[in-house]
Amino acid sequence: MHNLRSKLRRIDHNGYKLYKSLEGKYQFPGFTLSIDRTQSDPFAPPSKISLTVPLAQTGFPAGFYDTPVRSTAFRDALARTFAKNIRRLTKGNRGTGNSGVIAINYGGQTVLERNSIVIDKENITVRIVAGLPSLGRTVEAAEAEFMFFEEFPALVGEGFDMSRLDAKHFQSFITTAERREHIRMELGRRGLIAFIPDGAILPRRSGAEDTPLDGAVKFESPESMRIRIEFPGGGYITGMGVPRGITLITGGGFHGKSTLMNALKSGIWGHVPGDGREYAVSLRETAMIRAEDGRSVSGVDISGFIGDLPGGKHTRDFSTENASGSTSQAANIMEAIEAGAKVLLMDEDTSAMNFLIRDERMRELIPAPKEPITPYIETARKLYDELGVSTVMVTGGSGDYLDIADTVIMMDNYRALDATARAKEIALKHPRRITPPPERKMKVSHRSPLPESVDPSRKKREIDIETYETGIRFGRSKIELSEWEQIFDRTQYGTLGDILYYAKSRGYIDGTKNVAEIVRAIENDIRGEGLDAIFRGTGREWYYYCDVRGIDIAAALNRLRTLLIR
Ligand code: ADP
Ligand code: MG
Repeated sequence: MHNLRSKLRRIDHNGYKLYKSLEGKYQFPGFTLSIDRTQSDPFAPPSKISLTVPLAQTGFPAGFYDTPVRSTAFRDALARTFAKNIRRLTKGNRGTGNSGVIAINYGGQTVLERNSIVIDKENITVRIVAGLPSLGRTVEAAEAEFMFFEEFPALVGEGFDMSRLDAKHFQSFITTAERREHIRMELGRRGLIAFIPDGAILPRRSGAEDTPLDGAVKFESPESMRIRIEFPGGGYITGMGVPRGITLITGGGFHGKSTLMNALKSGIWGHVPGDGREYAVSLRETAMIRAEDGRSVSGVDISGFIGDLPGGKHTRDFSTENASGSTSQAANIMEAIEAGAKVLLMDEDTSAMNFLIRDERMRELIPAPKEPITPYIETARKLYDELGVSTVMVTGGSGDYLDIADTVIMMDNYRALDATARAKEIALKHPRRITPPPERKMKVSHRSPLPESVDPSRKKREIDIETYETGIRFGRSKIELSEWEQIFDRTQYGTLGDILYYAKSRGYIDGTKNVAEIVRAIENDIRGEGLDAIFRGTGREWYYYCDVRGIDIAAALNRLRTLLIR
């Protein structure tokens, strides 16, 4: 500590780059301060600092972190507390560029495993970024001293001491997480794909805000679909269990269809207590699928949906720089299944119409041999029977789907009704007269990406990965993810970008391993060593990461425009 103080005074009012001489560890009363990486100028990304305290000294009960589910929830809540304390206890900007700005990575409504706070056998560490103070391009040692010797000790003192924290608050994050994961386990056991509890608040305040809508109509399960789940620690919950197979969500416009769908989409993760969706749970292997014209596709077998295209283009290994609505939707489905998806969510609003249906008149005008597309209505059942992949489809426009649905949920004034029996009646009353389309087999491709096509370098920099609002710039290439709808936290972009680099540098992308094998190898490493595996495995200093799924990793890899497949 004294060493840090004297170093600081020595570089006062000297060139900013001298901050680098501070990198290293310093012992403070009750904690270790580690300056892990300093920035090169006041406008560069902020410096990285870790504060470490022995667990024994914190008074945190072991029950807060002795299982992965508890630990994730506890650290998620604690990172939020640090963020609040940073606002309360630190001065913020005090000079040029990001001078004096202190920040931590933490979550919004979604609860995710993240590495801004980590616990090992004996210690707990919080990782903070800070703009080292300067005026112009010279060191402001007095301000830096205030940061290191006043602000950081205050943050440690308030954040890493159970007696100054509200145990009930943390316990509620932990209990919510444990119950949610219990529900998820029950889904698998009972052959369900999703659960929406009675009393849930599904709509959000606005399209731009993820917090619950005030005065919303609370969700209530149709009687016939209601299940009851007992919690191991006592208590139970009731709500709607969505079975496997083909499910339609229907109803008039503005009656809450998309809102229910969005709850299924976000149910792959957890939400904070009070969110309204904290027990709305879906299987992790759920993929939102939509049309995404303009995306690139590399060697995907979409022949189950689309026969050979004009100009003799094959669809068994379909590649394009510029997919159409229907070919992109077909590729999105096959790639998701390749990466392990078991549930596909689709909304007619964001689907390619000609991919979903073709009516009788159109079949007469364009006879089968001239139309390469077999509409999804003819293939959804095969996906389930042959590959065990369920579908949930939002449709208000096409009654044809009533024929193939196992379950029909009707949204009526934000209330869910079971319309399955009525839908069957109607389907019988107005039968569709169609000639069956050509029989096409559903074949999942096993594609092996070539390592040279996954290149994070740009100009002189060996690794140049950056995120932007809706995706990742990976070397010279872009990974546009605005239409991959299952990203809920921007840190997931950075995590995905670095994971691709990790997979390449570990030799997982080697031209022989296929996408599913690559994804599994990465997931194994992260399960074993935590998210830190991603930077450790490439010999770099820490970066902020949070949870992503194998399906998300594959989605990023598949959207890399340079990707080539063996
Ligand atoms: P649909 O997809 O059927 O057209 P949406 O799900 O988009 O309808 O919902 C229409 C509007 O109603 C949205 O503004 C949404 O926020 C609101 N809404 C949805 N569910 C509820 C609810 N349970 N209570 C109050 N408002 C709701
Ligand atoms: Mg809608």
